[in-house]
Order: sequence, then C-alpha cells, then structure tokens
Amino acid sequence: MASVFARRQALQLRTQFRTFSSSPARNAAEVKRLGVVGAGQMGLGIALVAAQKAGVPVTLVDTSQASLDKGLAFADKLLAKDVSKSRITQEQADDARSKLTSTTSIERLSDVDFVIEAVPEIPKLKFDLFAKLAEVCPKHAILATNTSSISITKIAGATTQNPRDTSTSSRVVSTHFMNPVPVQKGVEIISGLQTSAETLDTAIAFCKAMGKVTSVSADSPGFLANRILMPYINEAIICLETNVGDRDSIDAIMKNGTNVPMGPLQLADFIGLDTCLAIMRVLHQETGDSKYRPSVLLAKMVDAGWLGKKSGKGFYNY
Ligand code: NAD
Repeated sequence: MASVFARRQALQLRTQFRTFSSSPARNAAEVKRLGVVGAGQMGLGIALVAAQKAGVPVTLVDTSQASLDKGLAFADKLLAKDVSKSRITQEQADDARSKLTSTTSIERLSDVDFVIEAVPEIPKLKFDLFAKLAEVCPKHAILATNTSSISITKIAGATTQNPRDTSTSSRVVSTHFMNPVPVQKGVEIISGLQTSAETLDTAIAFCKAMGKVTSVSADSPGFLANRILMPYINEAIICLETNVGDRDSIDAIMKNGTNVPMGPLQLADFIGLDTCLAIMRVLHQETGDSKYRPSVLLAKMVDAGWLGKKSGKGFYNY
C-alpha cells in the first residue's frame, strides 16, 4: 500500500480533478509481463532485476540493436558473476536470462501489463515516446518513467490530445530507480496530477516485488533525489573549474570526510555527464533559479563527447 501521505495526496487530487482510470493491474501479481524501453545502463538493470526478483518475463525495447546486444552481454556478465560468487545457482541465472526478450520494435509492447521507460533525459524524446506507448500498450497497462527530473504531469499529459480524458494519463507514474539498479535499494515513486491511486499502489507494489525500498516524492523539478544530489555534483564541478581544488582533492575530501563510497566527480562519471547536464538544465529552466545554473565545464565536457564511464572518458579515464 502507498504511504498514508501518498494516498491522501492522490485521493485529494482525485476528488478535485476526477480521473478516469481503465482499471490498471492492482497489485504486483497482476503484472504478468513487463516492458522496458531503453536498454542503457538503467533499462538493462531494471529488466534484469525484474526478471530475477519479481520473476516476470521482460520485453526489452531499444531503437539501437547495438545497445540491446551490449546490454544483454552485460546481463550475462552480471549473472555469471553472481553464479561464481555463489549468490545464485546456474539454474537461477538461466531462468532469469530466459525471461529477457529483446527487440527494436515498440509494437511488441502490445501484451505488457506494466512498462518502464528509460531512454535519455530529453523532454521531447520522452513526450513523443509516451504518446506512442499510449497507442501501443494495452488499455490497462501502467506506463512508468524512470526520468531523473522531468515533470510526471507533463509526461502524462503527452499521452492524450484531450486533457479531460484521463483514461491513459491516470496510468502514468514515475518509478525512479537508482544506479546501479541491481545494487541500490531505493526507488523514488512520483505521481503526476493525473495519476490514479490504483496506479500509485501498483507501482509501489511492483517495485517492492523487485526487492526495492520505495519512497514517495512530489512532482517537483528533480523530485527529492536529484534536487539534492545534482546541485552537489554541479558544485563539485564548479569547484574544479574555478580551481578551488583539483579532481583528486575534491573526490578525496568528500569520500573520506563524509563517508560516501565515491567522490562527486567519480559519481558524475558513473551517472553519465550528459544525464547530469540534462537534469541541471531541467532544474534551472523549471525553477528559473540561478542557483541551479549548470557548470560551464560540465557542458563543455558533454560537447566533447566525454560522458564518463559509458564513453570511456570523463573526469577519469576508463
Ligand atoms: P543511457 O544513455 O545509458 O541509455 C539510454 C538508452 O535509450 C540507449 O540504449 C538508447 O539507445 C535508448 N534509446 C534512445 N532513444 C530511444 C527510443 N526512442 N526508444 C527506445 N530506446 C531509445 O541512459 P541511462 O543512464 O540508462 O538513463 C536512462 C534514464 O534513466 C534517463 O531518464 C536518466 O535520467 C534516468 N536515470 C539515470 C540514472 C543514472 O545514474 N544514469 C539514474 C537514475 C535515472
């Protein structure tokens, strides 16, 4: 069940703005097939954990066959590592792997009960994709986004031409997984204005079935996790560009002084510098507050194609 706060918020909104839901699956057990769109570092992790922990078959969609191949090869590597460390048996690894189906055709999502979108953090890309998901997915399916910062209300709004008809937008919700998905327990759940209480409950239940610990945040730029984390990372990059400290000093003092597993510059590399920049841009544009201005160095590194670990070069070389 959703927390008292979340349920009260959803119920209040539903009373004010009566939403029409096409009865989304009400609990995790009704999710018989999951769709994941985007097979990058987040999408692949979500698909693998859903197959392993929730035991559901997953249709993994990406426009790039190379991303699908790379993602599935990474899944094989993660499963082999789990077997070699005796965390799971070979049979369990084979079972999880057999649940992953990959495709470049979004039409294959016509039989899913729940879909999680994990494409790059570009507003128009997500809006167009949700308009397409509304067409392709069954009328009961929950349409979840893994966005780091973009308004859930806007994403839900993109599913319909008629804002008074909330039959699809009431099924849109955010399940914001953390990186790396197999390791991080927390998932931030966010409702848009249109999201129904049933959708919220099912999203929470499904994330719990994946072994995650859920928290509920309001639909505000960056929600909670990135409203707090990204200005910290951005400030570390500004400290680097204004010579307050060099790379190693910045990471060392935060790692050794605040007991975090890695410093902010290394963490930015792991998240992806393009993703960090996109989130800062959303925070800056949506709030109009200059305190969220993205670092000039961050933008330049993205222009150079230095995106961090995924491109082999960022603040560190990989
Ligand atoms: P990524 O760049 O690793 O992967 C994105 C994938 O989406 C790529 O494989 C790309 O080919 C695919 N793609 C692009 N357009 C597509 C389309 N129209 N249809 C299908 N596939 C498409 O990105 P990521 O780091 O996995 O981030 C994905 C989302 O998750 C973003 O919204 C990001 O903000 C969010 N997120 C990222 C992190 C992180 O630490 N990287 C953490 C939490 C949330």
